[in-house]
Amino acid sequence: MTVLRTSAILGGEPAFPNGVPFVRPARPSLANVMARLAPSYDSGMLTNGALVRELEERCAERLGVRHVVAVSCCTSGLMLAVRALGVSGEAVVPSFTFSASAHALAWNGLRPRFCECDAETMQIDVDDASRRIGGAGLLMATHVFGAPCPVEDVLQLARYHGIPVVFDAAHGFGALRQGVPIGNFGEAEVFSMSPTKPMVAGEGGLVATNDDAVADSVRIGRDYGNPGDYDTRFVGLNARMSELHAAVALESLLQLDENLARRRAVAQRYLEGLSGLPGIACQRVDIGDESTYKDFTITVDAGAYGLPRDSVATYLRAEGVDTRAYFWPAVHRQQAYEALPPVELPITDIVAGSVLSLPIFPDLELDVVDTIVELLGVGHALSGALRGPIAGRTISQQLI
Ligand SMILES: *Cc1c(COP(=O)(O)O)cnc(C)c1O
Repeated sequence: MTVLRTSAILGGEPAFPNGVPFVRPARPSLANVMARLAPSYDSGMLTNGALVRELEERCAERLGVRHVVAVSCCTSGLMLAVRALGVSGEAVVPSFTFSASAHALAWNGLRPRFCECDAETMQIDVDDASRRIGGAGLLMATHVFGAPCPVEDVLQLARYHGIPVVFDAAHGFGALRQGVPIGNFGEAEVFSMSPTKPMVAGEGGLVATNDDAVADSVRIGRDYGNPGDYDTRFVGLNARMSELHAAVALESLLQLDENLARRRAVAQRYLEGLSGLPGIACQRVDIGDESTYKDFTITVDAGAYGLPRDSVATYLRAEGVDTRAYFWPAVHRQQAYEALPPVELPITDIVAGSVLSLPIFPDLELDVVDTIVELLGVGHALSGALRGPIAGRTISQQLI
């Protein structure tokens, strides 16, 4: 394509008439899933059976952790992991995360105390967390978009205060912190296998822990709190994983490395293409770390780029490119938490107000990435001419 074409927002043809989806889940072959499922299915063991055990073993081996407990989703895994630690009072958690991180605390009766993120890495700002942590019972941090957060600093802070750490590792299966697999840190790390994550089960979660007591508690907790004698030890959940989901997950695990390599190639292409474009910054990943690139997220500096984030999204949408503003609104701005005491998080507000996640999935072609990069260049170059027509779009047009 060429920069001489007319932008769709100015009346030209869209660059992608058939559209580029934001995500296309990497699904393993259905035939393989069915073949794997058949023994459990035929035996009538439909949930929490041999395939779930096999998934737990394979994942524990891969991560090098003592226990992996499979659960119905990451949210229930976080709820049960937090429950296992028996803490009460308040818990420090970044606001720049997915709502489920804070929900897992709130469902355990813990009041979230939100802290800042770093403007470049978008990860927990540990210095800010240290100013807010006094008296808290738990520290939670997310590996944002599949890039490891500063785990050593997080752990050091928590150890200093004598409190446990749970990592929301929803995006992080396959990520490495200085060579060590995410899954090894803190009291527990919890992964998601919902359709947009690097490894998929349909719905599913994995609690990774080196702590025997945490693993036991999550195992009992996913089964109503029933250790097997129907005398429930605490108020648990039904958070079991079905054999159907485990079959999908086991096949997905076989493809994980290939899919991660493709995601990383897409990310590399974006990084090279977007470097130097005024007003656009890509999430910074610490040197020596490997991200899963569950998302490829940029920030748009409206002044330097010429258009604010929402306008960039509208402009790309007109060209057929689907994007998301992850994580916006930040959790402390969400209605679910409006009853909490007000908190000032200016960096988080800026980051959440300027993030835009671009399409990334294993079979996204690199020439499509090149075109999206080129469109972003054109958007900057023509920002003056685009501003009026974008503003003229009705809200409903912008949302389509
Ligand atoms: C997707 C996601 C979750 C929730 O995962 P589920 O498996 O859907 O419960 C939690 N935290 C983060 C950061 C996520 O992106």
